[in-house]
Amino acid sequence: MGLETLHTTCIMDCPDTCALEVSVEDGKVKAITGSRDYAVTNGFICDKVRRYPQRVYHPDRVLHPMRRTGTKGSHEYVRISWDEAIGEISKRFEGIRQEWGGEAILPYHYGGSNGLLSEGGLDALYFARLGASRLDKTICAVPTTEVALGMYGKMPGVPFESYPDARAIIIWGANPKASNIHLVPFLREAKRNGAFIAAVDPWNRFSDNEIDLHLPVMPGADLPLALAMIRLWHEAGDLDQAFLAEHADGTEPLLEQADLWTLDAAAAETRVPAEDIEALARAYADASPAVIRCGWGLERNRNGGQAAAAILAIPALMGKFGVLGGGYTMSNSGAVKLDTQGVYGHDDWQTRSINMTRLGEVLTGDLDPPIKGLFVYNCNPAVTVPDQNAVLRGLAREDLFTVVFEQVMTDTALYADIVLPATTFLEQHDLRVGYGNYVVGGIRPVIDPVGEAKPNDEVFALLARAMGCDDAPFEWDSETHLEKVVAGLTMEGRPADGEALSSGRLDVLRFPDGAIQFGTIMPRTRDGKIHLTPPELGPRPYHYLTPGDESAGEKSAGEESTGGAQYPLALISPANNKMVSSTLGEFNYPTLVVSVHPADAERRGIAEGQTVRVFNELGEVVCQAQVDERLREGVVSMPKGAWRKSSVNGKTSTALCPTHLNVVGGAACFNDARVEIAVVSAG
Ligand code: SF4
Repeated sequence: MGLETLHTTCIMDCPDTCALEVSVEDGKVKAITGSRDYAVTNGFICDKVRRYPQRVYHPDRVLHPMRRTGTKGSHEYVRISWDEAIGEISKRFEGIRQEWGGEAILPYHYGGSNGLLSEGGLDALYFARLGASRLDKTICAVPTTEVALGMYGKMPGVPFESYPDARAIIIWGANPKASNIHLVPFLREAKRNGAFIAAVDPWNRFSDNEIDLHLPVMPGADLPLALAMIRLWHEAGDLDQAFLAEHADGTEPLLEQADLWTLDAAAAETRVPAEDIEALARAYADASPAVIRCGWGLERNRNGGQAAAAILAIPALMGKFGVLGGGYTMSNSGAVKLDTQGVYGHDDWQTRSINMTRLGEVLTGDLDPPIKGLFVYNCNPAVTVPDQNAVLRGLAREDLFTVVFEQVMTDTALYADIVLPATTFLEQHDLRVGYGNYVVGGIRPVIDPVGEAKPNDEVFALLARAMGCDDAPFEWDSETHLEKVVAGLTMEGRPADGEALSSGRLDVLRFPDGAIQFGTIMPRTRDGKIHLTPPELGPRPYHYLTPGDESAGEKSAGEESTGGAQYPLALISPANNKMVSSTLGEFNYPTLVVSVHPADAERRGIAEGQTVRVFNELGEVVCQAQVDERLREGVVSMPKGAWRKSSVNGKTSTALCPTHLNVVGGAACFNDARVEIAVVSAG
């Protein structure tokens, strides 16, 4: 067959949605690189996807359906045929339905490597027909999505290409060097153009010549930081009252809370010098265009929703919209709409909803009916869901019939009764909606499925037909499915380009006069207004809660912190440049490290590379210490999604993460974990 170069789109959960070129020789993937056809991808991609062929051909790749023969977690399986697997799953699910009802079955999934054809379509139709419990997908991006929806109707934001036009840029709770790398060249260009750039993050990822100011805010304290800046501007008469009168409501509850936060109170709570908070407020106020890149790191705590709302309110309060490069960037996926009901014809799934963050409790507690059947696809809850010990206890239940539909033998797949082999995005048709870039990406098979792997839509159709469902979508092949979904897509009102998408290329949404918030793009709320205090914020909007501590209540500005002595360090678990959530952890992140500030390390006698235990009341993780002065004092960090084999005791960061929820959207609060750390003594 020789060497050929084929186009497709990266499917990973990443804002960049890269246009890819894949070199294929004799039916095997040789290399993956970025296409130059799309200016933002610009010929380069991250190291993660460059190494993706290692996943495709990894020894742990699931090549055929398997049935468990040993105890759960033991990795003892026997090969079975697809017919046997589909027959057995159907029989077991039917038995559960007869005895316990359909709600005793739980589909468990996330969008780590899913496109529109793989999640939310045929899978949802199948589980709806089964009468299964629904999944409330709260593990990520819920508080930010909820507030962006309530405040602006999920108005699309400032595109990355416009950042060089900005004169001030705040990167708040995001690490573009790990999970949005195509923003970095635009930041550098903005810097060359003279922009002031600040980063708000407990961990400084930038060098001194890349940014002007770093505010190492304590995890969970972004809200007082934003409120103190708003108070400063309010006092100085800087708020754009004319803009607010014309375009916004709900300003008063926000200003009432902001007025409680003096610079000193915010400095004490954030542990950031008051003069730095003031410097950031002044630089932002004085610059136009000014843009805030609001990330997802700031939402992963019990104040996350309120903090995201306060941050997204800033451009409105300060009148920063209406110019190219001015406003905010959150998720831009609101520019693309899919008429799911029109495509699949289902909207009648009304069973109980289960919060995915509480999986451990759901599987081990008193639920009525209990979960007796679990179908996991495109996610790895054994390492990604809070309270890992409870999750593992639940997965180990012998009376739980678990199916895991996966590409490789993940930590979760080891607990499955039946394992089904899934195609990677290089072996299937799919569509990816960009949530950073304004694109929809066509995904097409560049190689044949490895082993007996099948794509999601085919497998859910097989399962549905086996239980007697005769809905038309279950008869579609993947090409037909792609055509139907493309026909249901609109990009800012125009139809999607089916020809580009079916050939594995991007359909790029272009704004002839630029994407300008309050210029070419307006809020999508029902009345077209900004709602600065949306109902999503709950009964106590913009009120601050003691970070990390579920039992502690509201905290007033200037009030002394109490408690925390037993577990004084805040644990964060951010994205890194080796894995996309847990994807690629099978080979790309072999040794778990906990990063710790030199002062915290010295206090505990910890040296670089030493084996340490990180612990709290929920569990313990034994791993290697990495002393890093870029991380702020009082905070330690372990990467999100590391596999169990990377740590000494088979436990990872989620073993230390609490299960309490954000009031906004019932979302996970990973960064509320509080821990202590100690050297593991030899012998
Ligand atoms: S993970 Fe992100 S940066 Fe890497 S190739 Fe995919 S879209 Fe591009």
